[in-house]
Amino acid sequence: MFPVLHQEVNGKPLVYFDNAATSQKPIQVLEALSRYYREDNSNIHRGAHTLASRATADYEKTREMTRDFINAPDETQIIFTKGTTEGINLVASTYGRKFIGEGDEILITTMEHHSNIVPWQMLCEETGASLKIIPINDAGELLMDEFDRLLTEKTKLVSIVHASNALGTINPVKTIIEKAHQKGAKVLLDGAQSTAHLEIDVQQLDCDFLAFSAHKLYGPTGLGILYGKRDLLEAMPPYQGGGEMIKEVDFAGTTYNEIPFKFEAGTPNIADVIAFQKALEFINETGKENIQKHEAGLLEYASRKMADINGFIPVGTAAEKVSVLSFLINNMHPFDVGMMLDAAGIAVRTGHHCAQPLMKRYGIEGTVRASFAVYNTKEEIDRLYDSLKRIAKRRN
Ligand code: PLP
Repeated sequence: MFPVLHQEVNGKPLVYFDNAATSQKPIQVLEALSRYYREDNSNIHRGAHTLASRATADYEKTREMTRDFINAPDETQIIFTKGTTEGINLVASTYGRKFIGEGDEILITTMEHHSNIVPWQMLCEETGASLKIIPINDAGELLMDEFDRLLTEKTKLVSIVHASNALGTINPVKTIIEKAHQKGAKVLLDGAQSTAHLEIDVQQLDCDFLAFSAHKLYGPTGLGILYGKRDLLEAMPPYQGGGEMIKEVDFAGTTYNEIPFKFEAGTPNIADVIAFQKALEFINETGKENIQKHEAGLLEYASRKMADINGFIPVGTAAEKVSVLSFLINNMHPFDVGMMLDAAGIAVRTGHHCAQPLMKRYGIEGTVRASFAVYNTKEEIDRLYDSLKRIAKRRN
């Protein structure tokens, strides 16, 4: 079902444990991509011809399926972007520039991905607003007392990661959203990791924005989704100017299109949007609950098993986690561990995971990260264990 997984790497059957970076794609997604280019390729929302109408209908069908996936009230609140990064930048550039100014504050956390740090630093530099950081404890959990202290009438936006890519920590976002709203602040959730593992209901969460990426959800690369509350999206200026995002262009002045088109300037990523349907179908058919149960089982198994290795140091031991196991082996450089695992056919991520401030918090340069998806097995974790045991022994 996942063709890429059926191969040998360095003479060993591939074990793919780099799912937090990007997950593999089921065959249906690959076939949908090829089918679109073979049968329907055309530009959407423009042509009067049959191919264009078929492509447009299919593109809009994905919007409706994505709406359903996160239980958004209306499909006009689903904006297609390039990825989580672009979704956050879009909010920073439009909502941020219009509604956040000098003296205002934006709250983020120590465990953010760079894509949820740098856009806010850039906005603060431009507007004179300031960035405040909610710290964490050694287990990698937010210090909620500190959050309470930092959240004030000056806070205009809280932008937090729902589940950390580097540690796996699931943050108590429902409480954070409630408290932020009591102070009149809006909340953006970085759902890059959480959407693949957890049931997401934006109405129940009551978040103001949610940004995520299709490629971490068994879908194609180059596609992201930004959800926003209707009144906010309508009040925000456009992100980029060009075709599709306008109602009428005149040298005397231009009027903008309705949402979501106001934020989708130019020819979008039509093929990948259409193929994403098959990833959503795969998740819906498998069931988020089953995915969660399977991955929680793998994480529990791996955490217990690796603890037995002399010199295994877990990084991030929060009580609530998605299936991410970050660790160090003795005082070995994570990259060296990654290379030795690669020689054994096991793909992991090593380094700072685009979370350098978080690594600084732990006083380390990086970690080794094994992250599990629905297709991983306990037998594969046994192979990781055997390899790590050998690697650690060499150092002892
Ligand atoms: N936020 C988190 C927590 C992530 O893990 C990632 C990707 O690794 C991103 C944001 C950025 O996602 P993308 O590169 O798909 O835009």
